Amino acid sequence: MPAEALVPTSAEEAARLYGDGEGVVVFAGGTILLPEISAGRLKPERALMLHKSGLDGISTDGGTIRIGAMTPVSALVGGPSELISRFAENVGDGEVRRSATVGGNLCATAGVGAQRGDLGAPLIALGARVRSTGKGGERTEPVEDFLAGDRSGRLVLEVELDAPSGKWGAETLRRRHAHSYAIANVAVASNGGGLRIGVSGVGPTAVRARAAEQSRNPDDVLRDVEPVDDAVASAEYRRKMLPVLLRRALDQLETA
Ligand SMILES: Cc1cc2nc3c(=O)[nH]c(=O)nc-3n(C[C@H](O)[C@H](O)[C@H](O)COP(=O)(O)OP(=O)(O)OC[C@H]3O[C@@H](n4cnc5c(N)ncnc54)[C@H](O)[C@@H]3O)c2cc1C
Repeated sequence: MPAEALVPTSAEEAARLYGDGEGVVVFAGGTILLPEISAGRLKPERALMLHKSGLDGISTDGGTIRIGAMTPVSALVGGPSELISRFAENVGDGEVRRSATVGGNLCATAGVGAQRGDLGAPLIALGARVRSTGKGGERTEPVEDFLAGDRSGRLVLEVELDAPSGKWGAETLRRRHAHSYAIANVAVASNGGGLRIGVSGVGPTAVRARAAEQSRNPDDVLRDVEPVDDAVASAEYRRKMLPVLLRRALDQLETA
């Protein structure tokens, strides 16, 4: 276990103890970190343990939904967004979902043989924003920008999104196994004339498929997304299936 454990009891204290994040490993649900420590791949010197930080919970404030970074993935199932719920219920199994957190899902990097961070797809499709602190102070930015940027030195505090009011579609491809990781996830949402497309499970982070949003041509999803090879599926298979999944998700918008 870590040589030094920091246990904040408020969000403010968590931000202060985190500082610029230098040399600090953030511990949320530990579903990724604990196996890494057990396998000897990670030996943290200083750990920021968030379990008492109060950074959990879902609230609705006017038309804005706020999801604390320490909210367990299980709390999103049947929660305020049907689209997010649809992806949350596929993360791991019940035991994993009760420990796994939203912040941990957003900050997850690719595993040894699989991609992670499934929630990125619905969060991008719904135009969610991430509030984080660390180097350079607090900032709020779209999920896709947070994921595309340098996440080291950032402590995620919460995710916020406008209460969903439009139509959505979702497709996931995975093997039949309780612990299976996704081969690909596609989430689409339309509000008024605008369309947003999020893709996860095909590479190290979730991505917004802007070209396909503009053209509405499912093949254009590959202009923004670069599928990878891993133990779950080949890049080639993912490249073939992604446009199919996107076409099906877009069809759901038509029929919703
Ligand atoms: C059997 C099994 C099945 C799984 N299946 C899936 C799946 O289907 N889909 C999927 O997406 N994932 C899956 N996972 C991976 C993992 O459970 C989830 O991604 C989970 O949401 C990670 O959250 P956590 O709180 O456990 O993260 P942790 O293990 O606590 O942390 C993960 C990473 O995020 C960082 N971190 C955590 N919280 C913050 C924060 N607030 N600010 C900054 N950095 C932070 C940590 O420092 C670490 O680098 C699975 C894991 C297991 C063990």
